[in-house]
Amino acid sequence: MTQEKPRANLDTSVQYVKGVGEKLAQILAKIDLLTLGDLYFHLPRRHEDRTQFRKIAHAQAGEMVSLSGKIITADTVTIRKGMSVTKAFLEDGSGTLELIWFNQPYIKDALLKRRESIVVYGMVKETGFGLQMETPEWEDLTPGEDPIGANRIVPVYPLTEGIGQKRLRAIIYNALNLYLSGVQETLPPELLTKHQLLPIQQAIRAVHFPDHIDQIEAGRKRLVFEEFLIMQLAAAQQRAKMQNERGIALPLDETRLLDKVKRAIPFELTSAQERVIHEIWSDMKRPHPMNRLLQGDVGSGKTVVAASAILAAIESDYQAAIMAPTEILAEQHHRVLHELFRPFGIPVELLVGRLSAKQKEAIKERVASGRGLVTVGTHAVIQDNVEFARLGLAIIDEQHRFGVMQRAALRDKGLNPHVLVMTATPIPRTLTMTLYGDLDVSIIDQMPPGRKPVKTHWKYPEERLKVYEGARRLVEQGRQVYVICPLVEESEKLQVRAAEELAEHLQKDIFPDLRVGLLHGRMKSLQKDEVMEAFRERELDILVSTTVIEVGVDVPNAAAMIVEDADRFGLAQLHQLRGRVGRGEHQSFCVLIAKPKSDEGMQRMEIMARTNNGFLIAEEDLRLRGPGEIYGTKQSGLPAFRVADLIKDMALLEVARQEAFQLIERDPTLEHPANRGLKTALERHRHRLAVATVS
Ligand code: ADP
Ligand code: MG
Repeated sequence: MTQEKPRANLDTSVQYVKGVGEKLAQILAKIDLLTLGDLYFHLPRRHEDRTQFRKIAHAQAGEMVSLSGKIITADTVTIRKGMSVTKAFLEDGSGTLELIWFNQPYIKDALLKRRESIVVYGMVKETGFGLQMETPEWEDLTPGEDPIGANRIVPVYPLTEGIGQKRLRAIIYNALNLYLSGVQETLPPELLTKHQLLPIQQAIRAVHFPDHIDQIEAGRKRLVFEEFLIMQLAAAQQRAKMQNERGIALPLDETRLLDKVKRAIPFELTSAQERVIHEIWSDMKRPHPMNRLLQGDVGSGKTVVAASAILAAIESDYQAAIMAPTEILAEQHHRVLHELFRPFGIPVELLVGRLSAKQKEAIKERVASGRGLVTVGTHAVIQDNVEFARLGLAIIDEQHRFGVMQRAALRDKGLNPHVLVMTATPIPRTLTMTLYGDLDVSIIDQMPPGRKPVKTHWKYPEERLKVYEGARRLVEQGRQVYVICPLVEESEKLQVRAAEELAEHLQKDIFPDLRVGLLHGRMKSLQKDEVMEAFRERELDILVSTTVIEVGVDVPNAAAMIVEDADRFGLAQLHQLRGRVGRGEHQSFCVLIAKPKSDEGMQRMEIMARTNNGFLIAEEDLRLRGPGEIYGTKQSGLPAFRVADLIKDMALLEVARQEAFQLIERDPTLEHPANRGLKTALERHRHRLAVATVS
């Protein structure tokens, strides 16, 4: 009986592969292997070179070798309850070697059935009674058939429970043999030649079953390039789309505006600030919505840049909104903007969760009527029932704390308002391109003058009392000190208790004569405000806090940041915490108290002590922990790459980005026949991302 084979493509279910039934498909689904495409892009962790067979007589202890021969005996004994040992002898004409498996009694029959000719691969050991191989991989050599796990460079895949290496290898092998020839080329020939990339079929074959070890990297490079290209095409299209939309062209007189800003602030703008303000205003003058990312290290002065953008919107009779990730930060922005705009008679609304329903109503009413010109808030701002009369500018501070969805939600509050996204967490360029690929980027690469770099010390817990003495000296000089309590990830309740205990201990035992305050996430917002206010007004000398003060808080008189159990925090987080000090003219200090248990922990403390450069720290963080760990994937909008590695493949991302933007400029919707493959791949990519965000 012959059966017509349906045409398989990348979206064909794995069940189409011989030997994959429903049950196995469910197991494969656990590692997201649903389609043939998923199998093709399921890259091996590594490869093993099994091209050379060794004679048993020449095998040496400590070597990984491939042997072939026949099974002369095989037997399973139960040595105690629940523990069996299967032993077999392999013979190849030059000698014999013992094979041994634990708790796999079925192996005995399997071996005996195929005893005439098998291949094994594993580590050779010397037992005193002869050579042995423990739990080898093995396969029978059916005459005339190609053994998958022998005689070649063999892939070793990431697995999941319920499926073994040999099984998965066979599935992928079969999938490739049967359907790879049906896989369509995605990249235009011109790009293949220009960047010396392997055609798709060759590349997929090479990353799984290469003929030569050198082919693996070449194949991978091609697949990485494609993955980056598709992602950047999506970003380029998104950007082009925004740039074609009609936006609000604000009639700005930059010279006059800049004068106004300068008169309102008590310091001189740095040239970096002036430059990015100009970049932002230029965007706002254009009849298309601005979509800009403002990056600047902690303390570089982004707030005044945001204020300048807000002023520009208001002067043109539009409303502006700024959204911050925490209430504390929203309060602070409110305070700063209120001060700044008071001389101009511009009211600033504060919309946060803790307000009473009545207060919220009043604010919403002002905002909806257009009387509320500037609105500062938390998530509350993007709630459904908040409406703006004419929102011209939406700013999101500390974007990394929000998801992509929230950016869209705020944008939707107006008719294509200008959007400015600000982030203080310096992120490496690769990540910027990935997370914010559709945005234009402005960077404040200069600190306000007169700042003394924060001095960072890494101390062991044994030296804590000395650290406290240092803190006391600073307080005696009129400064204030933050103490961050150890991170308790397990429960917020425990976290609060830790903070309370530390505060009590410091007040009672260490600084009985000083004023110690406490701040944590479980406090009511009003309480939090009061504490922050007291600290700001110097009514407290020492503020014990959880990481609620991590982002944005600005109290220039605070000159020391002591972090307990510092190795438990991420680098970016430590950098943010450290950014709370060194904001005034005083020499400031950051003391990391830690006795890291791991090498990685040590390295992180060393990096912190060595540099204040946020971008460098971010690169290191990325290198040590990987992007998923730092930014999450689904929530942050960081795509889960199947092949690419953001650290290793940085250079390729740059290239792919350039090509993608050029392609979209020449052929915005990818209609050209040579770009058809890309168009299809892009649609598949969108589908995959859409699925990823809803799940
Ligand atoms: P961030 O970029 O971390 O948001 P902020 O906007 O909070 O930084 O600014 C940090 C501190 O530096 C604030 O106290 C602010 O008033 C001050 N500042 C900002 N720009 C300048 C400048 N050009 N000269 C002096 N101080 C400045
Ligand atoms: Mg800030």
